Amino acid sequence: KEKLYQMIVSIIGRPNVGKSTLFNRIAGERISIVSNISGTTRDRISTNALWKDKNFILIDTGGIDTNSEEDFQSSITDQALNAIKESDKLIFMVDGREGINPLDQEVLELLRRNNKNAIIAINKLDIVSEEYNSFDFLGFTEFDSVKISAYHNRGIVELLEKVLDNDFANSPANNNEIKLSIVGHPNVGKSSIFNLLTESNRSIVSDIPGTTRDSIDFSTKYQNKSIKFIDTAGLRRRGKIEQGIEKYSSIRSIRSIERADVCILVTSTEDMITSQDLHISGFIKDLMRPCIVVMNKYDLVDKSKKDEIIKIIEEKFNHIPNIPILLTSALDKYNIEKIIPEAIRVFENSTKRISQRELNSCFIDAISKKQPASKGNKSPQIFSISQYKTGPPGFKFESLNYDLIHFSYKRYLENQIRENFDFSGCPISFKFVKARNR
Ligand code: GDP
Ligand code: GDP
Repeated sequence: KEKLYQMIVSIIGRPNVGKSTLFNRIAGERISIVSNISGTTRDRISTNALWKDKNFILIDTGGIDTNSEEDFQSSITDQALNAIKESDKLIFMVDGREGINPLDQEVLELLRRNNKNAIIAINKLDIVSEEYNSFDFLGFTEFDSVKISAYHNRGIVELLEKVLDNDFANSPANNNEIKLSIVGHPNVGKSSIFNLLTESNRSIVSDIPGTTRDSIDFSTKYQNKSIKFIDTAGLRRRGKIEQGIEKYSSIRSIRSIERADVCILVTSTEDMITSQDLHISGFIKDLMRPCIVVMNKYDLVDKSKKDEIIKIIEEKFNHIPNIPILLTSALDKYNIEKIIPEAIRVFENSTKRISQRELNSCFIDAISKKQPASKGNKSPQIFSISQYKTGPPGFKFESLNYDLIHFSYKRYLENQIRENFDFSGCPISFKFVKARNR
């Protein structure tokens, strides 16, 4: 089932217009928090939010530290510009009581120049009789506006409906496409690899309706399979990552990891050894996504270090035993042709359903070789197994006293399953439920 494409919505505007009040209002009351990945939610700056059936990521640019040495004013416009470049939609906030301020004009100018989709939120109009103040902003006609009071919760529903009113968040999924996401730390060779993989297919770039240049998926074919590289914006951007957009890059990575059927984590020796990409592999783990690791720049590696490198990767991905690892060089075009077939293989592992008969036989064999250990006079018992999900796989065990089952026994069961069925590249989840009628 396709995860909804999450829009990135940023609140921009000069200081004191009420950005963080609006952020808290939306995050805290109107909207339930749908996920809690460390570092992204509830950190005062960004939150995963759900409004009606639409998922989106809300960012308060007022909370982003620029660490800029520059003067105050240009740091505000820098922040606005980063948000404009990196977001799918903007809430441009102004103070309806104070009227137009030169900084508002500058932000407006940035929006115009970048041709960006924004809704103006004219704030601090706490009661109807204050609305005359907003006449100041009548000249900002190319953008739709809503009169609100973030503080008194006026106009917020109308604002959200306008912000989320397009097909974007619910762009139809083509369920036959295998969604691949190329992720990793900057400079490891992601764009080089992406270019090699898609070189001959440049013409079939497909934009999702309603999205901007910055959030493009790329569809292509491999043999008879449809492949979609998702969120390729970062792979098309050439050159150094601009300052101040790290926040967006990491939100983007998470978004595409969540959407991906298989993640292609690109890394390099330095990255592995210095744990640079720790947070990205952490997200892949937390989000339980199938994954292959592409260890790029192998041309630079001392080949005698090969086993050591593989060991480091395997330790990092200890929840996916024997994770597929490809040693590649985009420079020498070495092993690049193996990436897509390997990703497809992991996709097929992840989506396959094991027949109940085969599962039973594996299960009976495992249980008869080794029973879960008892604790005191209580012993855990497991009666049956079933596969309750795919993509990646999950197994359910009917049991008694399952809270006594030791972690090492769960590992044992997982190993037994992996020995019998090829789930390489996939995390496996387990669910223990109380057996009925026992
Ligand atoms: P930011 O700097 O843009 O994030 O602005 P804040 O959210 O910190 O708000 C600045 C000030 O405006 C605070 O004192 C808020 O309480 C106040 N404020 C925010 N929204 C409203 C509103 O809707 N009505 C009124 N009267 N005050 C507001
Ligand atoms: P990205 O930031 O992850 O997209 O990385 P790029 O694809 O932009 O590559 C960063 C730098 O590494 C560029 O100078 C590439 O030419 C170089 N590079 C990419 N792949 C390889 C490789 O396999 N070997 C070597 N030696 N350099 C590479």
